[in-house]
Amino acid sequence: MQLDDLYRRVIMDHYKNPRNRGSFEGESVSIDLNNPTCGDKIQLQMQIEEGKVKAAKFLGDGCSISLSSASMMTDAVKGKTLEEALQMADNFSGMMKGEPVEFEYEDLEALSGVNKFPARIKCATLAWNALRKGIEQAKH
Ligand code: ZN
Repeated sequence: MQLDDLYRRVIMDHYKNPRNRGSFEGESVSIDLNNPTCGDKIQLQMQIEEGKVKAAKFLGDGCSISLSSASMMTDAVKGKTLEEALQMADNFSGMMKGEPVEFEYEDLEALSGVNKFPARIKCATLAWNALRKGIEQAKH
């Protein structure tokens, strides 16, 4: 796939030097999801306190798109309220439909080019689907 050079560099940086890779020892929400069309797997763990994402970590295997998206997402949601995190997930879905979206966490915009490759959209949204499920779980 052909992505803009700068965007590709941001994606590869997150892929090679993932932020928040790992798991928590204490109590946390844990979600396992996979994307069978590509073979991507992710386990997302979140520490949620007082309606905020205190921290998020992930483990997983997969392509550069799925893992860089997980790296960015876990960084971007840190300290956000659950509502803000869900709004970010909605914005990300919008970006995957080609809508012009801006993020406070600008690295996410590097994944905007993925919308031109429909087969890869599930790679990019895997971590965000895990985020949505984790927030749902935390609310119950
Ligand atoms: Zn993938």
